[in-house]
Amino acid sequence: MKVRYTFRCYPTDTQAQALSRVFGHTRFVWNWALRLRTDAWGHGERINYNQTSAALTALKKTAEYQWLNEVSCVPLQQSLRNLQKAFLNFFAGRTRRPRFKKKRHKQAAEYTASAFKYQDGELSLAKIGKLKVRWSRPFQSQPTTVTVIQTPTGRYYVTLVLDEMPQPYNKTGELIGIDLGINRLATLSNGEHIPNLKFTKKHERQLAKAQKSLSRKTKGSGRWIRQRMKVARVHERLTNARIDHIHKITTDLVRRFDVIAVEDLNVRGMLRNKKLAKQISDASFGRFVSMLQYKCVWRGKELVKIDRYFPSSKRCSCCGYIAQTLPLSVRSWQCPECQSIHDRDENASRNILNFAVGHPV
Ligand SMILES: [Zn+2]
Repeated sequence: MKVRYTFRCYPTDTQAQALSRVFGHTRFVWNWALRLRTDAWGHGERINYNQTSAALTALKKTAEYQWLNEVSCVPLQQSLRNLQKAFLNFFAGRTRRPRFKKKRHKQAAEYTASAFKYQDGELSLAKIGKLKVRWSRPFQSQPTTVTVIQTPTGRYYVTLVLDEMPQPYNKTGELIGIDLGINRLATLSNGEHIPNLKFTKKHERQLAKAQKSLSRKTKGSGRWIRQRMKVARVHERLTNARIDHIHKITTDLVRRFDVIAVEDLNVRGMLRNKKLAKQISDASFGRFVSMLQYKCVWRGKELVKIDRYFPSSKRCSCCGYIAQTLPLSVRSWQCPECQSIHDRDENASRNILNFAVGHPV
């Protein structure tokens, strides 16, 4: 099974300079090939990967573009392959049209097996040399691809593609329903509550402050550029903290339960409300479910997604009574049929579990 692991890495100053050249050249090749394909498209022609590859070989032989040979040819070639993939995804309607890459965006260069060496915990890249990497988790197999990334805040990472056979977790015989929410990240059908990260609130305030300060500066000025970097740093911290949190929770859930039921997301018409939509995207529901999904596959557990039109909140999980209306502001309610008192989200999570195991009340 193909997996991707990302590690922080620390290039030396010389390596950072060399990498910056690789990123620049890779970006150039992407933008050049994208222009070539877009112009051809304008005359009703289609240019494929092989044609861009031949054109690049010719370009590298011209005096004007000699400098393209300064860096390993592999990341440049991969850039063309990735552009091809991006176009195929676009033609299939899965993504939007490939766009030009900019220097201030995330930079990446991809190395295939011929251009890197991994042995005894040491990684070297062609024309870059041995990289200092913080190997924060073990892996067994030989990487098939290595991508070096530089974030807009100047941090470096390597992402390895590996072919791993993950060990299944022990069966526990336990089932669980999960309601994902805004007030708390998740409510479990056994009554457990998983809160949102507390310190994101602090980071959000920092972010709002940094953004406000950015908006007061003259666009393009030195101060503006430095402030934009600050905003990006807060963003990065916030995102990393969230991803970390979700990793921990999903791993724990997959370890403890054999069957996990969640509602299929994009749910409940919630996203129509703009303010709510921001909170939902902040709570990273999509990432939560996709992590559960792949971890269940790895670990031999089962994820059941419940139809989004199933009235999980309005239905009494004891007797099946369905409330006519239940505004989002109502956090707990009493069933007029059986008199049960429900915490809104706990009730929803129990319904989700009941439905998943085929016993809706
Ligand atoms: Zn009831």
